[in-house]
Amino acid sequence: MSNLRVLSVASEVFPLIKTGGLADVAGALPGALAPLGIAVTTLLPGYPQVMDRLSGTQVVHRWPDLFGGPATLVSAEAAGLALLVLDAPHLYRRSGGPYQDAHGADWSDNAQRFAALAFAAAEVGAGVLGSDPPDVVHAHDWQAALAPVYLRFARAGRRRPATIVTIHNIAFQGQFPAGLLGTLRLPPEAFTIDAVEYYGQIGFLKGGLALVDQITTVSPTYAIEIQSSEMGMGLEGLLHHRSQVLSGILNGVDTEIWNPATDRHLVAQYDAQRLDGRQRNKAALRQRFSLSDDAPGPLLAVVSRLSWQKGMDLLLTALPRLIADGGQLALLGAGDAALQAEFAAAATRHPDRVGAVFGYDEGLSHLMQGGADMILVPSRFEPCGLTQLYGLRYGAVPLVARVGGLADTIIDANDAALAAGVATGFQFAPVAVHALEAALARAARIYRDKPTWRALQERGMATDVSWRRPAAQYAELYRSLAERR
Ligand code: ADP
Repeated sequence: MSNLRVLSVASEVFPLIKTGGLADVAGALPGALAPLGIAVTTLLPGYPQVMDRLSGTQVVHRWPDLFGGPATLVSAEAAGLALLVLDAPHLYRRSGGPYQDAHGADWSDNAQRFAALAFAAAEVGAGVLGSDPPDVVHAHDWQAALAPVYLRFARAGRRRPATIVTIHNIAFQGQFPAGLLGTLRLPPEAFTIDAVEYYGQIGFLKGGLALVDQITTVSPTYAIEIQSSEMGMGLEGLLHHRSQVLSGILNGVDTEIWNPATDRHLVAQYDAQRLDGRQRNKAALRQRFSLSDDAPGPLLAVVSRLSWQKGMDLLLTALPRLIADGGQLALLGAGDAALQAEFAAAATRHPDRVGAVFGYDEGLSHLMQGGADMILVPSRFEPCGLTQLYGLRYGAVPLVARVGGLADTIIDANDAALAAGVATGFQFAPVAVHALEAALARAARIYRDKPTWRALQERGMATDVSWRRPAAQYAELYRSLAERR
């Protein structure tokens, strides 16, 4: 099997920089693909957090002016990843997040910042680095989605690799004023309904989806949902039109980082044969969240961005039910200030039953999976979702909304699934308070039936949530695209 070269383009890559699941995917997929003969190089912006961690750096290309300042492309290594880092100080060397400043406002030059990333990807794809150009350019989300657009317009006539755009969340599309067309080095002919024009603006994701060879998203169910007006967020028509080249491949998780038998963030390590370590983790978790240690029901964990998407308002409304069933809630999250205030108030009202930690804490998120009885994911939409996969692996039984990747990864403990011995968690639908409350009550009931509960945990822990299968699917897709060229 010959080696295939893939350029993966992403605005965040774990463990260098992360705000969500995209980073986990971009960070883990290269390692999973390597044994399959797929050599991935990852292109990402040179944020300070990234520049600080590079080793073996070598400048491989220079642009005297890349959207307002000089830029270099640096080949480097970090965290076992082969990288191309776009070092453009005028675009990326600033304190704050990858998309927003310290006050949570989008950077005003995000159009230039991510057009530059996609432009650099197109240049590499077109072969400006000389030897060994990539066979496939794989662009993740709107921040990279202009890559196929630049390959079509700015690099017309040059070598063209196969292209893929992966949608990790269609809620984020990257729309910018039409007046930026020239600034972004897009010719007037790119501003049509077949390319980047989107309701009178420039649509980064829209342009990519229109011109790319293959579209993937991160679960089979989400691939169908985004073709509907309820979930397509304006892009459903285009996606339906391109459904022949649209498919869903589930995310995996890094099973070395997420391994309860070796996880240093846990107070006690454990495995499926010996679950008793979970009790010590649970005690530590209760202490961390100042919860009492005598609640009769399950301890539920939430590790999430606090946003409308994640259904956190539904959870707030359902809290009395959870508490009435004897349950406890430990929430780790950051985001919407109003939601944060409401969870803080709930914790004040029920100090022994509800605890909240606001902010981003990778270590604590591990302890929560290793100590909570359940992980709760009541999302209104969820392209794949990772926290329920961590929950499966750690024996924190997932309770999830039946949407997107949550529908594809959890087997609901209904009577048939329990009788057949295949259930791994709880699903609820529709995504509404009454259905969430019913699922919470159902879970609390089964929690009291210890053998059944233990069986749920064991089956979850035996589920293969690694990258093995998804990586094989990506590899097959890359090969078939490269062959077709
Ligand atoms: P999304 O990408 O929409 O935020 P996912 O479930 O796909 O949702 O991925 C979220 C990732 O971010 C998971 O790895 C989760 O553990 C992590 N995460 C989310 N919020 C926090 C937080 N406050 N602290 C630590 N990790 C978090």
